[in-house]
Amino acid sequence: MKLNRRETLGGALAASAVLSAPAAIGAARPKAVVIGGGAGGGTAARYIAKDSKGEIDVTLIEPSRTYYTCFFSNLYIGGFRTLDSIAHSYGTIARQGVNVVHDWATGVDRDAKTVALAGGGNVPYDRLVVAPGIDFRWDSIPGYSLAGQHAMPHAWKAGSQTELLKAQIESMPEGGLFVMVPPPNPYRCPPGPYERVSMVAHLLKEKNPSAKIMVFDPKAKFSKQTLFENGWAAHYPDMVEWIDGEFSTVEEVRPETMEVVVDGEPVKADAANVIPAQKAGLVAEAAGLTDDSGFCPIVPATMQSRMDENIHVLGDATIAGDMPKSAYSANSQAKVAAMSVRASLTGSKAFPARFANTCWSLIATDDGVKVGARYEATEDKIAKTEGFISQTDEDAATRKATYDESLGWYEGITADIFG
Ligand code: FAD
Repeated sequence: MKLNRRETLGGALAASAVLSAPAAIGAARPKAVVIGGGAGGGTAARYIAKDSKGEIDVTLIEPSRTYYTCFFSNLYIGGFRTLDSIAHSYGTIARQGVNVVHDWATGVDRDAKTVALAGGGNVPYDRLVVAPGIDFRWDSIPGYSLAGQHAMPHAWKAGSQTELLKAQIESMPEGGLFVMVPPPNPYRCPPGPYERVSMVAHLLKEKNPSAKIMVFDPKAKFSKQTLFENGWAAHYPDMVEWIDGEFSTVEEVRPETMEVVVDGEPVKADAANVIPAQKAGLVAEAAGLTDDSGFCPIVPATMQSRMDENIHVLGDATIAGDMPKSAYSANSQAKVAAMSVRASLTGSKAFPARFANTCWSLIATDDGVKVGARYEATEDKIAKTEGFISQTDEDAATRKATYDESLGWYEGITADIFG
């Protein structure tokens, strides 16, 4: 077990500092364990610790010491953010009373109620929260593979992949071709590929204005489509071509030769962004929490797994009904799960589940658009109750205000996740 001593000790000290009720000191506290310190898991760990005021012993298992947010990683590609500005660490979560263990969870023994760690050892729990995000279906595009991601990065988990993709775009020859293969539904961040197209176009317009972008989509439509297509026509005329999945098929990719084979014809790319189909993070499957779809069915009111009432699943790994896979959704679901964990372990009151989401996208400088909704828990699914979307005829001031709103959201949500 690779315990980060400073963070773990810090967590223990912070936890004991908030134990004001003498009866609780020394008594065995119920244990909540969270797998995955991303948008969902970070929020859940922090809220369980904070709201139980030290009554619950919370452990967060996360392999990375630095988490790069996928959200705003497209803005890094476009040149609007630095990589450092989307990097977050776990020191504050630890100081706020969470034991942070930097290791991989490799499996869950649901009878013994323990989580196995790659570094050895098991972590016992009374309630487990599983929030591992996504993993890829490498075989969903013939020719693509784990090795292929170096020549044709997906950059759908942020960090080194995002850096690599940006470097490859920047080294395209003058007038070169950038190809994107977006993923099929369901996938992390529905507008994400199209915000990325916008940010790649922004970068190329500055550095390589005669370059072209071709998007070979397996889908026939996509999120905020009219807003994006209008934006591309206005800001990047003749640069972006989106090819409808209804009329053409990517049959194969060839990372060695940088070719994408479409309807039998090889298309040679100078830089390629290939984003495969997705499924829940592998540990969710190892724990037996997924169904045939590869994602995890949940009870909407509590985010409990339908496979095991002692386990809650959050974020991209779930089948979340009408909610998209987004950081905002994961953060919102985490608060519902944290309340349910706290209620079950301490007998505190739980309130009806309410969920919200907004997905902002930047199309060009100060041209921000958004789509969002509110949701409630029904028996079957998380169901949309009301929604909104940016209008096509909005003026520049409204678009700038939308972008500014997204900057405020980023500051707020990262503080909510990482403390
Ligand atoms: P993650 O945030 O991916 O966290 C999962 C964590 O689990 C990771 O830290 C991982 O290291 C850890 N983990 C995985 N396996 C294990 C294991 N076995 N043991 C321990 N830990 C493990 N969302 C928005 O709301 N707004 C946006 O503007 C937005 N833009 C995006 C742009 C792009 C390009 C992309 C790719 C995504 C974007 N998203 C956006 C989506 C958002 O990033 C995800 O929906 C969100 O991160 C999901 O949160 P999560 O907690 O489910 O997963």
